[in-house]
Amino acid sequence: MFDRHVHHCRRCGTAVEQRVPDDGDTRVRAVCPSCHTVHYVNPLLVVGTVPVWQDGRVLLCKRAIEPRYGKWTLPAGFMELEETTQAGAARETDEEAGARIEMGPLFSLINLAVVGQVHMFYRATLLSDVFAPGDESLEVRLFAQDEVPWDELAFSTVHMTLKRHFEDAARGDFGFHHMDWQPSSPR
Ligand code: ZN
Repeated sequence: MFDRHVHHCRRCGTAVEQRVPDDGDTRVRAVCPSCHTVHYVNPLLVVGTVPVWQDGRVLLCKRAIEPRYGKWTLPAGFMELEETTQAGAARETDEEAGARIEMGPLFSLINLAVVGQVHMFYRATLLSDVFAPGDESLEVRLFAQDEVPWDELAFSTVHMTLKRHFEDAARGDFGFHHMDWQPSSPR
């Protein structure tokens, strides 16, 4: 996990103080003793897709970047400013896999409270099985359930989401899965 704490004021560069601001706030924040700017650090949103081909296989990307270089993931990444969650998920799918998709409904929302992130995955229908992996992927391919490299997945939330995807697919009924991840969570 990268350090998201603010050490220097983003406005004037002065070393900040970690204290409760004087404005009625109750949490410790990075407060600039010089220009009095309060720096808020809030959870980040990670958005992605579960892209499915017409035969039921799911697209996974082999990561060409850290963290988890060489591990497999669903296309996902940090949401950017000025985009919607669906647009972010579509962008990540294009950047990491070069996959053409039709966006579907929200499938999973996973709180990672201790990490300060929320991960959201949308179902997506692949419109082609020809992919163009971007710089962030070593390889992109389709996996049937019994081919998924479960022990080589990059992130717990990918594991949690894929597991529910195949459970729902087997039942022929896709739901929405709202989950909370803990470091000790079973997958
Ligand atoms: Zn300042």
